[in-house]
Formats: sequence, structure tokens, C-alpha cells
Amino acid sequence: MQEKGTISIHTENIFPIIKKFLYSDHEIFLRELVSNAVDATQKIKRLAQLGQYSGELGDTTIEVAFDKDKKTITITDKGLGMTAEEIKKYINQIAFSGATEFVEKFKDAKDANEIIGKFGLGFYSAFMVAKTVEINTLSYQEGAQPARWTCDGSTEFEISEGDRKERGTEITLHINEDSEEFLDKWKLQGILDKYAKFLPVPIKFGTKTESVEDGVDDKGEKKWKSVEVDNIINTTSPIWTKSPSDLKDEDYLAFYKELYPMSEDPLFWIHLNVDYPFNLTGVLYFPKVKNDFEFQKNKIKLFSRQVFITDEVKDIVPEFLMLLHGVIDSPDIPLNVSRSFLQADGNVKKINNYITKKVADKLGELFKKDRKVYEEKWNDIGLFVKYGMISEDKFAEKGKDFTLLKNTKGELFTLPEYKEKVSAIQTDKEGNTIYLYATDADKQDAFIQSAGKKDYDVLLMDSPIDSHFIQHLETKEEKTQLKRVDADVVDKLIQKEDNYENLLTEEQSNKVKEIFEKAINSQTYSVAVEGLSPEELPVTVTMDEFMRRMKDMAQMGGGMSFYGAMPDNYKVAINGNHPVIDKVLKAESEEDQTRLAKQAFDLALLSQGLLKGKDLTEFVKRSVELI
Ligand code: ADP
Repeated sequence: MQEKGTISIHTENIFPIIKKFLYSDHEIFLRELVSNAVDATQKIKRLAQLGQYSGELGDTTIEVAFDKDKKTITITDKGLGMTAEEIKKYINQIAFSGATEFVEKFKDAKDANEIIGKFGLGFYSAFMVAKTVEINTLSYQEGAQPARWTCDGSTEFEISEGDRKERGTEITLHINEDSEEFLDKWKLQGILDKYAKFLPVPIKFGTKTESVEDGVDDKGEKKWKSVEVDNIINTTSPIWTKSPSDLKDEDYLAFYKELYPMSEDPLFWIHLNVDYPFNLTGVLYFPKVKNDFEFQKNKIKLFSRQVFITDEVKDIVPEFLMLLHGVIDSPDIPLNVSRSFLQADGNVKKINNYITKKVADKLGELFKKDRKVYEEKWNDIGLFVKYGMISEDKFAEKGKDFTLLKNTKGELFTLPEYKEKVSAIQTDKEGNTIYLYATDADKQDAFIQSAGKKDYDVLLMDSPIDSHFIQHLETKEEKTQLKRVDADVVDKLIQKEDNYENLLTEEQSNKVKEIFEKAINSQTYSVAVEGLSPEELPVTVTMDEFMRRMKDMAQMGGGMSFYGAMPDNYKVAINGNHPVIDKVLKAESEEDQTRLAKQAFDLALLSQGLLKGKDLTEFVKRSVELI
């Protein structure tokens, strides 16, 4: 039997096009061929189970090998094999139709990148690294003849009688000159580790040396010897394929260590397991993260039937859960399509919602079950929860119940609890409840103390996500505003009817303003004399909440460069009711007035950590003189 033929595709020269555009992903040829070998092995096992194959299954280990001299890589399986007819059908027609489709799409695509990389080319991907591919196979069917197929990547192929004695398929790649880097043990081992580490059929790649016991010596001590054993590169039943009831905490922790050897233990995990309306398994871990969340992204690995696909799960996992670690395995995620298609895919949306729901349920359950333990973990999980509240409405609905607010005393409250706590005294004359917050408890201490004197509570919002979370709270919580505790003098933070009257006359106030403007002598500060409690500081320096937020956002790159470019602008509130101001007014000389005013102003700066360098030195000198 010898036959030559032409592969039925209409596009000539597919190979050079694919080769050119799949450049960065050449290594996936091994994933594709090993996956085919696994499929063929699982099929024969199924046939045996169904009683449609009565021969011996035998050892079904798949073998990957290479020969540096012959410049070949071979993948051998003991799967169901193919007859010559099947090769014609499955390889010549089906496998190559994938390639044709690729080229068809490529022709119309505006952006070639869109379709590259994620396009599973299956068997044909072998031609990315091989000049000739050979299939040597024997079908499981009774009386089947071995068959050999060779093809050089053009549309010409050749089928002849093969010489394989054992059931299964051997694929030999004659590696092309540009791809000789793949003829290397560590290179291949690396690719197998990446894609095949959890495949369900054992895969052998060469051998390795192991120490085994070898009886005892004269002194009765154990003897060891080195032996060569098969190097099996995969774990065939990773934990996500098992039932949660068969697993202990140690198993989850060990698997985590296997995936991320350098990481601290995770906080907790969620075992995902659904089979309707889509199929998905996996384990997601909540890692310990603090602030550097950008750095931690892309730690979820996506598998399809235990074949590693990618660790870019951007469109499959909701954005806020990109911080999680772990694995997701779903054959229902379409892999051979472009990004934009993936986002629109119904299954992907459902999967996204499912994961969001599972995570929300888990958090809710932890909170309900043991609030104390949950609170202890809040520092670590707060970031996820806040991120989720901001970015996912579905999550926010459930998250209301287990989102916590922390005040500067370290106490934690749920959202309704907090509203209840502060609404009585922190509601202004318009009926808005004002939540006060500090972003730096040390720097803003003077303001926190003043607020405390009025029995106001101050939240601590010191993580990078908090500036967004604050806005979220304002839009979601009814009639609620958030103000940074140093946004104004304490009496003005929450505007009530009963504010103090300024006891200075208009003339006196103008005089005080003049003295301070002269003493401060800077455009950065605008001075106002106000009637505040005599208990308050004589001078307070604040930055308007709105202006500060805009500047913060400009700094974070929020596209508000206009605000970023504005000079800092502070408000200086002079407490007209404070005895010190009276003293300034009554000072003997103009010089003394300026000196006292400057001293009071510097004190205000000092309490906010704004007094630095030469000004600080001068302040110390002046203080000594005044004593
Ligand atoms: P896919 O695996 O997505 O169907 P491929 O191009 O990888 O596409 O393979 C085409 C077909 O060739 C497979 O569906 C299978 O029927 C057959 N095939 C490929 N490799 C093997 C193998 N090692 N053993 C048996 N059949 C195979």
C-alpha cells in the first residue's frame, strides 16, 4: 500500500503564514500533541470500559523523547491508534481544516494579533517546529494494519504501510533548523512542566536517578544505591479533580506550595465544582496580600481538562478576583477564539458570575460562622472585598453584609452598624451623615483628637484602594458624605445649626487677617477668621476635601492633569474665639504681632508635619526666644 495525495485545502502555503504569525507560541506544539496522545489514551480506556475493546490495556504511559543527533522529537501513546482511513479523515481533513480556518480568519482580521496565540491549531501546530512530520500508528481495531503518514507541511502527504507492532501512535517530528533549541532536555522539561504537569495520563520524559534502600551493611546501617527510574513529569489526579470531602487542609496547603513555592500560606480557599450549566472545577486561594496588588496579578492558572492553557485569565475571572491564586479548569471556555469573542461568550459570562457568587458566599459564610476570625483576617481580605464592592455590582449586593469599616481605634463595623453608630451626632443640618476618615493616623493626629473631643468617630482609610472605596460608599450609602478629618476645622466638618459665633468685631477680624497674611507671606495659604470653640487650636491649616481628592487622583494618573498642575492651596482658619488671637491683637508692637502670629501658624503646620527645613529651624529658635 502506498498512496500519495493532496490535502484538501484551498489555501496554498498555509504553513509559512502560520509559522510567521505564531512565532511567540511555538512551544504549544508539544501541548497539542501530548493532549492528542492523552485523548487517544482516554478513548481506548472508555472503549474498554464499554466492552468495545477486549484486548489488554497494558501500561498506557505516554512517552516524550528526543534525539539530538537525528534531530527528532517523538510522542508515543498507547491509545486507540488510527487506521489509514482514519488518518485520511482525521488528519488530512479535520486537522487541516483548523489550519484553513485560521488562514481564512487571518485574511479578514484587521488586527492579526487578535487571532494569534489563542488559536488552537491542534495537530498542525507540529509544523511550527518540524520540517517533516511522521505518524506511525496501529489501530486497536481487530485485524487493523499499521499505517505510516508523512508530510512536509506542504499540501502533499504520503501514506504507506507502517511497522508499528503495538497499539497506539508514534508521532515523529523532524525538527527544522530554526527550532533546534527544542532539542534540549531542559527546554522540553520546562514546556512539559508548564503544560502537562497535571494531565490525567502518566507522561514519561527520560529517566531520573533516585536513591533506594539496598539492604544493610555490616554495622546494621541502611545502605542506599542509585537507580535510574522513569521520569514521570505529571501528577495525574491534582486536587481540583477530587471531591472536597476527600481532602484535608494539608492537601490544599501542599498543592498551594506546589503551585507557588515562594508564597506564604494562603488565608483560605474555595473549591469550585459545577457541572451544570457549564462544567468547571478548580481551587481558588486567598493569598496574603497587602498593598502591592499589581504585582500579585495573573496567578490563576487556566486549564482545560487538566491541560494548562494560560495564566492570563483576564476575561474569565472578574477583575477584582485577579488577586486570587489557584486553578480553574473548564472545558467550556472557548480557547480557539479571540479576546473580544471571549468577552461576549455566554459561558464565559456565566462562569464569571458563578465565581463571583461563590466567592461572595464563602466570605458571607466565614463572617457569619465566626466573626472574630473573620475580623482577624480583615486586614488581608479587606482589599478583595473593597475591590469587589467597587467593581462588581453582583458582588456588592452580597458584600454589604460582610464589608467592614475600621476606625482609628481599630474597631470594626459592618456598614449598617457604622451608620447606626454615627448618624446621631454626625449628621449635618441638611440631614447628611458625615463619615470622617483619616488616611494617616499619625500625621492627622491633631485633627483626630479634635474630632474625638466632639465624640466624632474617625475611620481609617489608609490602603491604596480606599480613595476609590470612599467614592463607592458615597454613591451607595444614602445621604452619606465622607470627609477627611483634616478637610476643615472640626466645627466646620459637620455643619450644624449651633456653630460658635465669632466674638471679634469685623474690624478686629480684618486686623487679625492682615497680621496673619503679613506673617505667613505666601500665596499658598488663604486666611480666614472664623468663630470656633475656644477649646480648639488658635490656627488650623486644612486642604479642601474636593481639591485634595482631585489632586490625589491626578497623582494616581486619573487623567486629571489639570488639578495635578495646580499649586497646593491650603486654608488657614484663625479661631477668633481663642485667647491666643486676642493676645496677638493686643501685642505691643507690630513686630511682636507678626512674631506671635507666625508662631501660632507654624504650630499649626507642625501638628500636620508640614513644617520643614529652614522654617522648622526658625520656629525652634523663635520658640526659645519666646520662652
Ligand atoms: P483535535 O484534537 O482538536 O480534534 P487535532 O488537529 O489535534 O484536532 O487532531 C485531529 C484528529 O486527529 C483528532 O481529533 C484525532 O481523531 C486524531 N488524532 C490526532 N492525534 C492522535 C493520536 N495520537 N491518536 C489517535 N488519534 C489522533
